[in-house]
Amino acid sequence: MARIDYRDQDQWSQTTRSTNQSPINIQTNQVQVRPLSQIQIILNNLRGITAKEIPSGQQFFCEGQVNINGHSWQMERFHFHDGAEHLLDGQRYDGELHLVLKNDQQTAVLGAWLVADENKTSLALKQLFHANQLAFSLRSLLPQAQGYYHYQGTLTTPPLLENIEWFILDQPLALNPNDLAAIRANFPDNHRQIQADNGRLVEYFPVQFHIGNQFSD
Ligand SMILES: [Zn+2]
Repeated sequence: MARIDYRDQDQWSQTTRSTNQSPINIQTNQVQVRPLSQIQIILNNLRGITAKEIPSGQQFFCEGQVNINGHSWQMERFHFHDGAEHLLDGQRYDGELHLVLKNDQQTAVLGAWLVADENKTSLALKQLFHANQLAFSLRSLLPQAQGYYHYQGTLTTPPLLENIEWFILDQPLALNPNDLAAIRANFPDNHRQIQADNGRLVEYFPVQFHIGNQFSD
């Protein structure tokens, strides 16, 4: 299956008229700080993870529920970006994980920045990219956040689906450089350029973060 070509991304905006596209540069001195919030992630690891190729790249389908600030979402899939898509005060982290969430009305993405750390044990992500069915827990890909940024935008690949709720965890996940190299080998430079924020509200919620398993805790 042919993948989208990031060298053509100047043409992608023709698929939407949205003035609220993603990704954006998050400017910490302009965010609205909100009261303490909750993120609860309930993983269903029983069926493992199923890899599937689509035009925007390899996706890892998974099961579980994510509760964010009183709203409940079902996990659909996750994928990686080589080079973060969202910037933080103009700085680009090494990568970004996107966990796509759905409920009856809407789509959301829970994002986590990735950063290289030689002291971290490798998660053997290379194997993740070369199997179709995996016994791999998403838990190892979720940083212990102290808060999250929230704003409304689009998906970052065509057709740039609108009205996406974005939740970006404030703490990056440290990964062994081997794991980042595995991401890069599979998705080299698959980050969309920064879009105008057009004065959009970006909120910051300090968070109590809990990750559990559906059948054990
Ligand atoms: Zn993505």
